Amino acid sequence: MGEIRAAGFVIFRRLSNQIQYLLMQASYEPFHWTPPKGHVEEGEDNMETAKRETKEEAGIDFKDLKLTDFTKSLRYEVKGKPKVSVYFLAELVNPDTPVILSHEHKAFDWLQIDDACKSANFADMQELLKECQAYIDKV
Ligand code: AMP
Repeated sequence: MGEIRAAGFVIFRRLSNQIQYLLMQASYEPFHWTPPKGHVEEGEDNMETAKRETKEEAGIDFKDLKLTDFTKSLRYEVKGKPKVSVYFLAELVNPDTPVILSHEHKAFDWLQIDDACKSANFADMQELLKECQAYIDKV
């Protein structure tokens, strides 16, 4: 009750010898970097929100993604209210698919795990990205 909900995809792509993660820099303070995600609207489930927000914020269609079964939720407070952001891990099948930003972000980058953790400066997001990397390395 009273919890703010968001959902999105941790999107990765495979280049010849590396795995890269898509991070996007918010156009609002503190200008932090996260995967594409946004508010769960009334009547939507988390997956529907993740698909809609990823299209809106990154221009990427769900049909261009291959979903894994890794998912994790981050819980933090925004202006004193609890928020949960649910992430699903998915691969961008064609690594050359363009990213198209909306006004909600000022930049994006494809980053290997170490650089992704440097950009995503919240500890729980860094942990999530490392767990994604471990999952990808395992399968
Ligand atoms: P967001 O949920 O990304 O829209 O961010 C809303 C607010 O929550 C911003 O002020 C961020 O600084 C903060 N925030 C975003 N992600 C995290 C996180 N993983 N841990 C703690 N605070 C966060």
